[in-house]
Amino acid sequence: MKKEMKKRTLTILIVLCVAVAIAACVFLYMQINNMLLEKELTTPQAPVQTEAVDGNISEPATEPTTELPTTQPTTETTTKAPPPATQKPSQPKPSGDNNYSANLAAKIAKLNGKGKKIYLTFDDGPSSLTPKFLDVLDKYNVKATFFVIGKGTIHKYLPMIVERGHTIGLHTYSHNYKYIYASEDNFFKDLDEISKLVEEKTGVVSKVIRFPGGSSNKTSSFNPGIMTKLTGMVQEKGYTYFDWNCTNGDGTSNDLSVNQIINTAVDTALKVSGDLVMLMHDAGAKKTTLEALPKIIEIFRDAGYTFAPIVPETVPVHHTLTN
Ligand SMILES: [Zn+2]
Repeated sequence: MKKEMKKRTLTILIVLCVAVAIAACVFLYMQINNMLLEKELTTPQAPVQTEAVDGNISEPATEPTTELPTTQPTTETTTKAPPPATQKPSQPKPSGDNNYSANLAAKIAKLNGKGKKIYLTFDDGPSSLTPKFLDVLDKYNVKATFFVIGKGTIHKYLPMIVERGHTIGLHTYSHNYKYIYASEDNFFKDLDEISKLVEEKTGVVSKVIRFPGGSSNKTSSFNPGIMTKLTGMVQEKGYTYFDWNCTNGDGTSNDLSVNQIINTAVDTALKVSGDLVMLMHDAGAKKTTLEALPKIIEIFRDAGYTFAPIVPETVPVHHTLTN
């Protein structure tokens, strides 16, 4: 009898252990899945080209967006965790104006923004960080431009962008390359959708747009010639499209350090002799973009640049078309 009890207790214990182990595995699997999904949703972009033809810096082909990561032409960078080597935690973060590394300080000294403008642009929002980006911009009295999407974003923050004096631009509703670049009809249906959403939420009929991936994107090459057609058509319809000529590089990863972001912004800006249109991203995972923003503003302000929001009359930066 006692033996029987012992056996039963042992069996219950084993069953319990197995159940706990299964639960742990399921939890672990979900965590990993969530991490990978978050990664895909926020920054599936290829590395920033430091220099391309005509000095263009291409927005990496795929960008953050929606609940449909599998439909996106994501690159091999999408789901991989970033190599730890790209992070430099040991590097001291710049915490004051004069606290940069000697190398960065030397580069900053070469910036000459006298008589020049800088247009800060934030793609892919609004996100959970939008109010915080707006607070930083307010603090420095800087007006910027937000190229917004609809799918997977926080629509209630759209009015806030306009109320705080920034330009709202259109970046398509779905940001789904496979869909928007499959045909002219698809693109304009999607563009109309974000246009209507922005008008409904803010009262603004926006005529400034940015193509997902930029006009130079190669991801659309599954439909030869589509970018050449679309860039012509959007202008015929009264839109002005804006690419960029410098970037903070946050399209490549969510795990860049503040230092990496600041260095990329300065490095890419140094290649441009005129006004700057800087590509950045507004997404929940872009915490270091937010953290680096005050420093970036201070650096370019101190270098003499004037911050301005894009307006339809702004002379656009256009990349060289590749498709
Ligand atoms: Zn984008």
